[in-house]
Amino acid sequence: MRKLESHAAGEWVPAHGRLREIRAAATGEPIAVAGADDLDFARMIEWAKEKGGPALRAMGFHERAKMLKALALHLDRHKEELYALNPLTGATRKDGWIDIDGGIGTMFVFASKGRREMPDGKVYVDGDVEQLSRKGTFLGQHYAVPLRGVAVHINAFNFPVWGMLEKLAPTLLAGVPAIIKPATQTAYLAEAAYRLMVDSGILPEGAVQFIAGGTGDLLERLGPQDVVSFTGSAETAAALRRAGPIARGETRFIAEQDSLNASILGPDAVPGSEEFDIFIREVVNEMTTKCGQKCTAIRRILVPEVLVDEVTKALTERLSRVTIGDPAREGVKMGALASAGQKADVLEKAAAIAAEAERVFGDPADFAVEGGDPEKGAFLPPMLFRCPDPDSAEAVHAVEAFGPVSTILPYRGAAHAAGIANRGKGSLVLSVMTNDPAFAREIALEAAPWHGRIYINNRASAKEATGHGSPLPHMIHGGPGRAGGGEELGGVRGVLHYMQRVAVQGSPDMLTAIGERWVKGAEEKTPPVHPFRLHFEDLEIGHTIWTEPRTVTLEDIEHFAHFTGDTFYAHMDEEAARRNPFFPGRVAHGYLLLSFAAGLFVDPEEGPVLANTGLDGLSFQKPVSPGDSIRVRLTVKRKTRRTDEYGEVRWNVTLFNQEDEQVAEYELHTMVRRRAGAVEAG
Ligand code: NAP
Repeated sequence: MRKLESHAAGEWVPAHGRLREIRAAATGEPIAVAGADDLDFARMIEWAKEKGGPALRAMGFHERAKMLKALALHLDRHKEELYALNPLTGATRKDGWIDIDGGIGTMFVFASKGRREMPDGKVYVDGDVEQLSRKGTFLGQHYAVPLRGVAVHINAFNFPVWGMLEKLAPTLLAGVPAIIKPATQTAYLAEAAYRLMVDSGILPEGAVQFIAGGTGDLLERLGPQDVVSFTGSAETAAALRRAGPIARGETRFIAEQDSLNASILGPDAVPGSEEFDIFIREVVNEMTTKCGQKCTAIRRILVPEVLVDEVTKALTERLSRVTIGDPAREGVKMGALASAGQKADVLEKAAAIAAEAERVFGDPADFAVEGGDPEKGAFLPPMLFRCPDPDSAEAVHAVEAFGPVSTILPYRGAAHAAGIANRGKGSLVLSVMTNDPAFAREIALEAAPWHGRIYINNRASAKEATGHGSPLPHMIHGGPGRAGGGEELGGVRGVLHYMQRVAVQGSPDMLTAIGERWVKGAEEKTPPVHPFRLHFEDLEIGHTIWTEPRTVTLEDIEHFAHFTGDTFYAHMDEEAARRNPFFPGRVAHGYLLLSFAAGLFVDPEEGPVLANTGLDGLSFQKPVSPGDSIRVRLTVKRKTRRTDEYGEVRWNVTLFNQEDEQVAEYELHTMVRRRAGAVEAG
């Protein structure tokens, strides 16, 4: 039997101390032992802080994003090694896809978001500059920087790979080292994925550590720069919240707990409609995927009163076609629960539900199992209940049977349906299958405060919809109340959980230096030549040129109007323009001003500037009348390396009139060639 290994302070440590036996889900055969009692947890924290933290912080967001991409590619190349272990957890190949490919995919998304949405530097700029003084000499800006401690990840048994990677990706992108503690029941699969990452040599020393066993006194030793990110039951979360530094509010604690998720069938979604079929498909999928061992699975099936019989019939018919058995066997749709202990727990919880609901499908004492060991394997059939009175029921809204168990509940109207869904006291996801936007809106507004995610599916989205139960790296995963009150994922939002936000106040030069982007009012540096003649590396934040003025004539406006076809009255008809509250009379087109601005600041010869890729934040602040003149200030605002060949330069472009009043402003995006040799030189 394998001794699982922890990875502490750079050493692999075999299971020791009080050993916990791990058995295969479908056969009950012992496969490994875990135990980590004697790990030196103080040394692990020190190792993370002294080795991992500094090494990660020496990189910027983009380097860390590239590291994540390399890790994801490495895992992807080796994923069959993980799929080989997957059936031991009771999961079919399709279930494993959510865990293994889903986890790797999540890492890819964070790698890509890190490079597209975070700066090519070490400080994350959060929001716009706040003008705190009349003349703009004293400003404010929010920044986020990596915490200086360690993130402890405690994961649930049901997604050993995804659970690890969905926490690790944002943590590493933030620049924080992690200590990972997977659930013991499936720790062998998490260990295999972890080992692949460490053996790849992609991660700096100390960036990650691994505990195959209990956490000993680790949590007691954490401090104010550390984070505990937990996924598991509400009961364990409550126990962890009592740990010293968490209870004292010193150590951040993020919890993803259990959840009584619901799905609502819209009144319009009658049998024969596409939405009815979508609903049946999604409910069956959520009940049977991973044997219903999904935190997001549909536990409560909300159906209009008049459709209860037809929904019961359709679900029963579909569930009766589900083949249960050895998850490695071809044709098996539903494998085993993770362990005999889980099976016993689900049966106990199902009995509590049965006290107030009628069982309409799935008898745990009488169902067929194909392959595996029906006696020792943790097999169960899907169990469907029907509760006639959801208003007086208690258990269906409170007891999470973490398996293939779900209950049909009748509702009378949108408000009633939302009210029933909200009785879960906070869930991860609520879904609505309807083709009626008014019904979807009513549910969404009533239910939103109680659910982390609302998933609406209809005929328009069905082909591409990602499924009620799939947390996506782009969207927040978590929920209020019973669901833990935590949030994970959600793109950059998930990264910020491992960072400290700070409000910095000061002069424009101070904010420019800290945020690595030019702030209006900061020093304007004179470049040695026109900035369009400079390569990416030679452009400095704050390099500025002022153009000559150009007078805008009535002929210019008329020419532009007829040339483009934009003969809007404000440019063509003096009297009509005067009647408009914004204009003193005929005025220049905003787009004419933009075009003139380019004509003023561009240096035309072939050179390092490759392309204009867009502009942001365009605003026209003052009309320009015939006879007015404009001139332009062009300033390098921020720089982002994109490829070895070019980088993105964003410029602040501001237009002034002859009175030096600002008339327009925007941020121009360009791609600028990198200097040959600059890449090798770093
Ligand atoms: P669990 O029993 O609460 O265990 C979760 C994790 O906590 C495991 O790694 C466990 O380790 C660890 N743990 C338990 N006691 C601990 C302690 N005193 N100190 C430190 N760590 C401790 O939950 P589970 O059975 O693995 O997972 C099922 C539950 O998780 C369900 O309720 C499900 O809804 C929930 N879940 C939620 C989400 C979500 O995202 N919201 C996702 C998946 C699952 P050991 O395994 O070594 O005991």
